[in-house]
Parts: sequence; structure tokens; C-alpha cells
Amino acid sequence: MSTPVYYGAADNYALPELKNALTGVLVPVIEKNGGVTGKRILLKPNLLFSRKANDPAAVHPAMITTVAEVLKEYGECEITLMENPGTQRVKAIISHMDIGGKLEKMGITYQDFSDYRELVLPDNSLFRQLRIAREFENFDLTVDLAKAKTHAMMTLTLAVKNLFGLIDSADRIAWHLAVGSDFGRFADLLLDLYLTVDPQINIIDGIIGMEGNGPGSGTPVASGFIAASSDALALDASVAERLGVKAEKLILLERAAKRGLDFSFENCGTIPVLPPFKLPDPPGRLNAWGVTLPPFFKTQLRNLIGSRPYLNAAECIKCGRCIEVCPPKSLKTGKNKLPEFDLDHCIRCYCCQEHCPKGAIVTKVQLLTALLEKAVRIFKK
Ligand code: SF4
Ligand code: SF4
Repeated sequence: MSTPVYYGAADNYALPELKNALTGVLVPVIEKNGGVTGKRILLKPNLLFSRKANDPAAVHPAMITTVAEVLKEYGECEITLMENPGTQRVKAIISHMDIGGKLEKMGITYQDFSDYRELVLPDNSLFRQLRIAREFENFDLTVDLAKAKTHAMMTLTLAVKNLFGLIDSADRIAWHLAVGSDFGRFADLLLDLYLTVDPQINIIDGIIGMEGNGPGSGTPVASGFIAASSDALALDASVAERLGVKAEKLILLERAAKRGLDFSFENCGTIPVLPPFKLPDPPGRLNAWGVTLPPFFKTQLRNLIGSRPYLNAAECIKCGRCIEVCPPKSLKTGKNKLPEFDLDHCIRCYCCQEHCPKGAIVTKVQLLTALLEKAVRIFKK
């Protein structure tokens, strides 16, 4: 059965338009979940880290406070905001967003996930066990508040990918190392997280989205929509289509379809008609299409033809954050204290690009790759 996905329009984050649009999309989803009165609610926004005000890489501060307001006005409930932003703490980001006072006034506490435990996953998962922030089990409802943006590894990051924040930072590094450049495997992990956490209220902030060099350093794009649904995967499928990405082009949905997961949706409300998002170069597509390289050529050919992270030295402030987050330690301090890539050991996870505060790391596709991928695309038709 198709899951309803509700759309609302707002040109910016100003009230009362934002609140009207959020109320319109949230009320049917709240009602589907039997209301909020007397419930404990986990609010999990995509915070990333604090860089500049109104950063398009993170959910807008007004989205966080207004979602909380709509929930509180619907019924008396207890809300806790939790996230694991990676290199920073939730308190620092909330303070940088300047919404701490407003949240506290509404009686909302905010903190980092901290209780990581091995959980046995549901039967329809591929992985048997996962170390995950188990705090979500203490709540009656989970609200997954994501951003509409591009992602160098997964093409788009929406509601399902936002759940990766429930994995401990050290484990995220281990996961990136374990799946390497097998992005399908990474999608499987995200799907298992989705099946385990099963957030009941899912929202995507697409008022100002991010296209191009996402998830950390793309270009803001005014898309003017908010979408919500009771199912994160159906929401992602619907929003991806709005952003011009067909289900078969998104690794996450490709893998979901292979596993027989139903992400059919029915759009309701003010359905946006948008120009397609400018997508990042598709790393690993040759692999995803089943074109594997002979092992003895793999590293050399990958460096020659695969997409790769690239440093725009003029933008780099030498903060070292990229070196800190690189899972296989394939980034080192090099000449003039600039980060230097060891491409032979780089697994193309693009954590460096995601966490660079200046957008100094971009993905680059080689000309030969572009031609090869074009050829495979024609061949596969
Ligand atoms: S250099 Fe960047 S893309 Fe390569 S492994 Fe390190 S963090 Fe990932
Ligand atoms: S590339 Fe970005 S994260 Fe790395 S040192 Fe330069 S500014 Fe910092």
C-alpha cells in the first residue's frame, strides 16, 4: 500500500509561513501515529557541525524550533533533541545556532547520543547485530528531521541517511573502512538502521536545499518545500523523484528494491515542481553496475579512472579536521602544512569533504571515467 507523503510550500524560514507549512505536513503524520499527548519524543535533526549561520548543510535552526512548537501545540509531550554530530558536541552547535534559549523555554533538553550498545537487528535486516545509540528505545516516537542535499557517496542524503547519526563516531570510521568503496554495502547498513529505528515521523527540510558538492560543501538552492511522512524510505523515494533522481539511480533505493522493501508513495498537498538537483559526480557507479576491475589493476586503475577527493588549496585554512576524520588515515599533513591524499589507501568515503568547514575538498571525476560511464549507461539501456 502506498504511504502518503505530504508536501508544503515555504519560500524561507520566516514565521508564520514556516509554521503554517509545517503544521500542514505534520498534523496528518502525527494523527497517523495516534497523536503526541503524554508521549516522550526523540527529535533527531541533522546537525553536522557549526560553521556559519543558516548553513545549508544542516537543518535550519527555525525548522528545529518550529517542529518542536507544532508538536507541543498538538498535545502535551516531552521532547528530547539528540544527535551525534561527529567532531562537535550538540550543545556547541545549538548555542551556535542561537536556539538554546528557545528550546529551554519549551522545556526541551538537548544532548549527544551516548549509550551505544550492540543491538540484535530485526529479522529482515542483512546485518545481524549493530552497535547503535540505544536511547531511541526509551521514546514513544522518533522524529527524523533531515535536509534535502546531495552526497558524494550516496548521491542524495535524506531521511534514511540521517539515521547514520545514531552510530558512534568511532564506529562510523570502522564502517567506512569495512565497506570501503562498496557503496551498496553502505546502503544496506543504512537500510538496516532504518528497519531498526523505524522513525514514525519523518521530515525533510527542502526550503533551502543543497546541490553539487554535498553533503558538506555544496551550493544552496532555494527549493521552497517541506515534506513529511510516517515512512522514511517512502519519503526519500518521493523527494528524490522531486529532485530529479529516479529510484533506480539511487543506490539506497536500488538496494531497498532488491530486498523487497516497499517504498511506494502517494504525494499529497502542494507538490513542488523543481528543476533537477545538480548531482555530485557518481563515485563507484562502475562498481555498482557490476563492472569490476581485475585485482592487480584495481588500485592503479581506480586512481586513474575513479572519482577522487581533490584539495582546493586556495580555500584551505589548514585546520586539520579532514585529517582527523579520514577513516583509513589516508590524509596526512604535507607540504606547507596542507593536507595531502594517499589515493592508494583512500576508500572514497568523502568524510573529509563532508567535514571540511571551508568547502576546500571537492570530488573530481576523471575524463576517462566520464566517458566509460557514458558507454556503460548506453550499453545498459
Ligand atoms: S581521503 Fe577523504 S575520501 Fe579518502 S578515505 Fe580519507 S576521508 Fe575518505
Ligand atoms: S581541507 Fe578543509 S578540513 Fe582539511 S585542513 Fe583544509 S580547511 Fe581544514
